[in-house]
Amino acid sequence: MERERRGLSSTSLIRSYNVVSVLQTLYREGACSRARLAKVTKMSPATITRIVSELLSQGIITEHGIGKSNGGRKPILLKLSYEKLFIIGIQIRRDQVALGLADLKGKLMRKTSYSPYSLEPDTLIRELVQELQNLMQNANVKKEHILGVGVAISGIVESERGILLQSVNLGWRDVPVAEMLEKYLDFPVVVENDANAAALAELWFGNPKNVANFLLLKTSTGVGAGIIYNRKLLTGPRGMAGEIGHIPLKKDGQPCRCGQQGCLETYLYFPDVLKRYQSETGKELKDWLELYTKVLNRDPVACQILEDLIEILSIAISLCGGLLDLDMVIISGIWANFKELLIERLERKFQTTLELSGLKKKISVHCSTLGEDSDLLGAVGLFTQKWFTPPI
Ligand SMILES: [Zn+2]
Repeated sequence: MERERRGLSSTSLIRSYNVVSVLQTLYREGACSRARLAKVTKMSPATITRIVSELLSQGIITEHGIGKSNGGRKPILLKLSYEKLFIIGIQIRRDQVALGLADLKGKLMRKTSYSPYSLEPDTLIRELVQELQNLMQNANVKKEHILGVGVAISGIVESERGILLQSVNLGWRDVPVAEMLEKYLDFPVVVENDANAAALAELWFGNPKNVANFLLLKTSTGVGAGIIYNRKLLTGPRGMAGEIGHIPLKKDGQPCRCGQQGCLETYLYFPDVLKRYQSETGKELKDWLELYTKVLNRDPVACQILEDLIEILSIAISLCGGLLDLDMVIISGIWANFKELLIERLERKFQTTLELSGLKKKISVHCSTLGEDSDLLGAVGLFTQKWFTPPI
């Protein structure tokens, strides 16, 4: 909390505590009068008038028609200009760092990506800050109109303190990512695990608009699950909720790089899958499309790989579905490309398990439609969520 409070008390207008309260109220309530703002924020009418006139002069809010009168003069309604305030989304992975500038509706105005020069935390952060400054300059966006930064990072994250506890992908341990970025940027920074960020992106910008409980299975840099429970991110006290990749689900299954056998990750993690194909056939496949084509052409090893994947995924989904009463599972990353070869057979398999175990429920499986922007949008979404959810 200490870190967050420091961000809020920044001298910049839109990050001062009172202004944030006004912006949060307008975001939550839509159009709203000065009197209503004063009532909700518990600030004096004089303070509200001063803040509103400053925000109006900067174009951050606009006047938006006339509201209903409670006896006296009809009040002028005020509204946020969604395209005048921005959030920066950052995605950090071993092979790629991506940056995006989005408006308050989550529309990505600009984005860029690059391969990091070094994976040493300090060097990577300094390079990132440089790239970010270039992006802001090219987009011609005033620093004062940026609310903050959301970071999606591969690994276990203690989001409250903005610390990356451990990342196998980056080889990092106990890196205070938020603090390091805030030192250079003077924006509040929120950090979250990438699967959690991608799940938030689905909640905010993707398919399951009316779904309360779902799980997103991320299959790019290893396997992680982001859980949305009751339309909120479920992280657990140590940020480890959804870390299901290395729980063995199949007795005497495929050997995994963690030293165990039958882990979900070894059936989904693509480099492992390609290695398995090569060891069983002596032939090398270069990407997912080659495996996909092999399955279409009924290549027996490729078909077996997919069959095993469906079996183990079905166990994982039945387990998580029963445990969390899920409505939906979303597959993102490389395996989302196998949509028509995967979904129907998978649904049939775990649905049979659920029925036989007496659970009268249906879980639908979808592939993510957000594509490669999913993590960036997730990073934006997680900042939006933190910023506009008032502390209880
Ligand atoms: Zn494992």
